[in-house]
Amino acid sequence: MPETIGFIGLGIMGRPMAGNLLRAGYPVVAYNRSPEPLEQLTREGAQPARSAREVATRSDVTIMMLPDSPQVSEVMDEVLAGASPGQLVIDMSTISPLVARQLAERAREQGVEMLDAPVSGGDVGAQQGTLSIMVGGDQAAFDRARPILEALGKTIMHVGDSGAGQVVKACNQIVVAVTIEAVSEALVLGSKAGVDPACILDVLGGGLAGNRVMEVRRRNFLEHDFTPGFRIDLHHKDLNIALESGDAYGVPLPATGLVQRLMETLHARGQGGEDHSALLSLAEELAQHRIGHATPTLST
Ligand code: NAD
Repeated sequence: MPETIGFIGLGIMGRPMAGNLLRAGYPVVAYNRSPEPLEQLTREGAQPARSAREVATRSDVTIMMLPDSPQVSEVMDEVLAGASPGQLVIDMSTISPLVARQLAERAREQGVEMLDAPVSGGDVGAQQGTLSIMVGGDQAAFDRARPILEALGKTIMHVGDSGAGQVVKACNQIVVAVTIEAVSEALVLGSKAGVDPACILDVLGGGLAGNRVMEVRRRNFLEHDFTPGFRIDLHHKDLNIALESGDAYGVPLPATGLVQRLMETLHARGQGGEDHSALLSLAEELAQHRIGHATPTLST
């Protein structure tokens, strides 16, 4: 008999992930703050609950997919109020590694195991069940979670003790953010100096400068299409997590700090809902040049 899975947080990521668990044959008890996605998932076969506490009471394993550390901490209070010893909680949200460690410690005091298991791969990965999942926590808890996570992702790695999954996710977000900024600056310089930006991406892609950002966001850069994808505001939150962790461990992260300020600027300009490739628009404004045009014009 498969374990009953509780699922809390049915947003862009959580709703399709919960759908994949249902399709893999797991009974799912679900809760979301706003009712619409819960109604949709109930039509797909999930059992609705009226609170996070009720989810924990009716499940063997509870998964959370919530925006940030405050929401996860708040929901965890409710989950622990409903959970019995021997339960497993898997937090798949992207939150602070320090908070993840504290929550796992609190859970353990109550006989509840907790894993941090943030993901990369975006909404498409969530829909197709091809997420990369980086897991921190106890080995036995990981072994128990593995078949469940296999319904959600393709690359599933146990990367260390509690909090380690969130540390690896922060590392991932640093590399993606700094790479988008580097590609944006290169495109603006090359284009303003008279070279076709598509040509720059082609040539750079064949050498040491080649990277997945240039492949996956190529069309966004060249067509100035900043429809998300991954929103500036969420990436800004993730860079704050990276910088807080840097403070805690004495790691300065200067390039991360710079890109965090640029994302802050985009948020203040009302572009927080755009894709993170919109960093290009700021690089263009600083240079007074829109890529792909011989004469300086501005998009904003
Ligand atoms: P989202 O805002 O679409 O979804 C969050 C859901 O949680 C919403 O449905 C909201 O109603 C619900 N919620 C909020 N507070 C709640 C509470 N107290 N109780 C119950 N439900 C509550 O966010 P998302 O894009 O699904 O992202 C979720 C997490 O995954 C974030 O930490 C994000 O950084 C991470 N992530 C997102 C992506 C992506 O591409 N969107 C990729 C990788 C990781």
